[in-house]
Amino acid sequence: MATPVVDQDACVGCGTCESICPECFEIREDGKSWVICNSCEEAGCNCEEAAESCPVSAITIE
Ligand code: SF4
Repeated sequence: MATPVVDQDACVGCGTCESICPECFEIREDGKSWVICNSCEEAGCNCEEAAESCPVSAITIE
C-alpha cells in the first residue's frame, strides 16, 4: 500500500502537492504540507505526480 510521507523540515509550503492531490495533502497554518489520507489507492489520487512536482523533493511514497 503506497502512502505519501512529507519531510516537513524540507517542505516550503508552496501548495503544489495540495493542488495536484487535495485528497492526500493539506497545507496547514504552520505553512507545512500534512498528509491527510491513509493511502494513495484509497484516495484514488496521483501522489506520485505530486511527489515529482514538489520543488524541494520533500515527498516520498512509502
Ligand atoms: S509540493 Fe513540496 S514544498 Fe510544496 S507544499 Fe507540497 S511538500 Fe511542501
